[in-house]
Amino acid sequence: MFVKYKPKRNLLQTILHTEILQGMALTMRRLFSRPITRQYPDEEIPVALGFRGQHALVRDPETGGSTCVACMRCATVCPSRCIRIRFHDEESRRVVDSYDIEALRCVYCGYCEEVCPVNALVLTEIFEYAAYSRDPFHFTREDLLANWDRFVEERHIDRETYVNPFWRPRGMPEGRLPAAKRLPVPSDWTLEGQVVGAGYDQQ
Ligand code: SF4
Ligand code: SF4
Repeated sequence: MFVKYKPKRNLLQTILHTEILQGMALTMRRLFSRPITRQYPDEEIPVALGFRGQHALVRDPETGGSTCVACMRCATVCPSRCIRIRFHDEESRRVVDSYDIEALRCVYCGYCEEVCPVNALVLTEIFEYAAYSRDPFHFTREDLLANWDRFVEERHIDRETYVNPFWRPRGMPEGRLPAAKRLPVPSDWTLEGQVVGAGYDQQ
């Protein structure tokens, strides 16, 4: 059933159409006030601290590949089931054969990067990756490593000192963090500041 909204108006409002005057007054006020809109894409938009954007696998400067150890924690914790990892055992360690993320199914909860014991995965601050088809949103391991390269280049991030706030969940005692999550943190890094990388322009 369609219910028509009928606002209550008094006689004066009906005769003088005061809403029009109110609207005009608002328009005039806004006309001379400082604009709050940004001229995107001509004007750069700073991302909010802790923004979770395009997925990336951190490139290991020593091996040139990913530091993922195929522990499967990210794939297990992912509520969208959009991470698929294939691996094989080699002596006493696992070797990743493929690592895929269906980004269109991702809800950007950040659980995957939070649970990764070796900080191999990150949701970068990159948000400009629109496309006209689904295919570009299927990230293979190579795509994810390329995403990291792009992130490093665009944000002028120092790989050695980069720290993602979601690698260190709030409230987690230092001693309970895996060693890899403790070691790369610079001495001036604080949870409150949510420093996301050396050289990164904070707001
Ligand atoms: S951010 Fe959440 S939904 Fe997206 S891949 Fe990670 S765990 Fe899955
Ligand atoms: S949690 Fe980290 S190390 Fe484990 S499979 Fe995922 S990306 Fe690899």
